[in-house]
Amino acid sequence: MQVQVLVAGAGPTGLTLGVELARRGIAVRVVDSAETFAVGSRGDGLQPRTLEVFEDIGVLDAVLAAGAPPCPTKVYVGGRPVGERTMGPPAEPTPAVPYPTAWFLGQSRTEAILRERLAGLGVPVELGTALAGFTQDTGGVTARLGTGEVVRVDYLVGADGGRSTVRRALGVAFEGSTDESVRMLLGDVRADGLHHAHGHWLGAADDPMRGVVFSPLPGTPHFQFGAPLDPGEAEPGTELAAVQARVDEVAGELGVRLHDLVWSTVWRPNVRLAARFRVGRVFLAGDAAHAHPPTGGQGLNTGVQDAYNLGWKLADGAPDLLDSYEAERRAVAAHVLGLSTRSMRKHLDGDADAHERGREYHQLDLTYRDGPLAAPGTGELRSGDRAPDAPLLDAHGTRVRLFELFRGPHATRLVLGDGPAPADGIPTYRIRPAGSHPAGGDLVDAAGHAFTAYGPGVTLVRPDGYVWSRPQAAA
Ligand SMILES: Cc1cc2nc3c(=O)[nH]c(=O)nc-3n(C[C@H](O)[C@H](O)[C@H](O)COP(=O)(O)OP(=O)(O)OC[C@H]3O[C@@H](n4cnc5c(N)ncnc54)[C@H](O)[C@@H]3O)c2cc1C
Repeated sequence: MQVQVLVAGAGPTGLTLGVELARRGIAVRVVDSAETFAVGSRGDGLQPRTLEVFEDIGVLDAVLAAGAPPCPTKVYVGGRPVGERTMGPPAEPTPAVPYPTAWFLGQSRTEAILRERLAGLGVPVELGTALAGFTQDTGGVTARLGTGEVVRVDYLVGADGGRSTVRRALGVAFEGSTDESVRMLLGDVRADGLHHAHGHWLGAADDPMRGVVFSPLPGTPHFQFGAPLDPGEAEPGTELAAVQARVDEVAGELGVRLHDLVWSTVWRPNVRLAARFRVGRVFLAGDAAHAHPPTGGQGLNTGVQDAYNLGWKLADGAPDLLDSYEAERRAVAAHVLGLSTRSMRKHLDGDADAHERGREYHQLDLTYRDGPLAAPGTGELRSGDRAPDAPLLDAHGTRVRLFELFRGPHATRLVLGDGPAPADGIPTYRIRPAGSHPAGGDLVDAAGHAFTAYGPGVTLVRPDGYVWSRPQAAA
């Protein structure tokens, strides 16, 4: 019988999971308690690994067209320009890493693109449809929706954000802390007097570290603003007049006029990790499983990767695959939480661009080497590692990238050189070294990048793009 999945929450995590399941022909419903779609820009930094996922699930072109690369930030003190912060020259794509730099797009727009892709697969997001409660037994999950409907499914996924109803109903601890001493006034607004082509830090004349940052939101005339609050400061208002008053304190003669406030909040760093990501037939993903500070730009990205890891496993249903989700993703979430917490500390110490610099924030080097699906090994590319891209040529001399071969819901087998390849239904590509004359569907590694990265022999690549050592599991 066809697998049925209920996804609670239509944020980036639930939407990505919906696409992953729907494109595999799984009967999935994506429900959200909200009456309208969220408008705030929140997670506006898409990391390189997320761009790779977006390429696979068919939304990358739309995301690249709608967003923008990182831009410099002009620094003002008391309204006078004193310099510019840049993140250095943009990294160039390499054969292995086609998207080396983070891409900026407001979260509400990323969600709209994912929703459109999901709708194209025949799955509309059901607004005003909260998950109210559920029970589970060995055969499935019976979920109660706020609309009064009762749904019976094989699996339930709680992608319902930091205050997750699903996590609470499971009684899973959300371990960590909320730091009340660190607060930031955040939101989206239009700002006359500030050029939209770059960011702006408006520092106070008497304390340049106190101020308001404005980051342009691509495709809209708005900026995302952020104003760190002093530890002893009374809770400020979040309405337009309160934000304007705060800007007036630091803008000096720049005379910045705010209007059209879309969204604003006083944010507190919440750094938490769910004790479990799975209880029986119920899974937790995204912010429901791990809450990050926004510094480091990891929260949305980690949720998208959770969904990408979980989707093919739910569709397959093999017990060892379902078991591997928590082991693989909880370890990654713990690691990423450490990273974004360190980044937040650097921010608080005044290193405002700290999070953009290191490759570790790009999520390209995260591996499942220590997970249950990996086999022990030595060498550069190991079971559990991200399978890198590489350009090849087909028999007609047309360029083909490995990522194009990986694209889609299937696993992929690469046979580099002459070795045997089992005929088990997994799409298999034979890759010959540079200088070969390819026959039939063979490909040539004209520039040598594939042989350098993968070495001769057989490599199986999981549907989510990691080197896999267990071909029999995919058969
Ligand atoms: C100011 C700010 C800046 C940020 N910057 C970044 C950044 O640069 N990069 C980054 O990667 N991340 C960033 N983040 C984090 C990012 O926004 C979150 O990690 C991301 O939204 C998590 O996605 P999600 O889908 O897991 O959860 P959410 O986006 O929280 O979505 C959960 C959804 O579940 C719905 N829901 C809740 N309860 C129920 C229920 N009972 N039934 C059904 N639906 C329910 C909600 O309505 C919501 O739509 C930032 C966050 C903030 C606040």
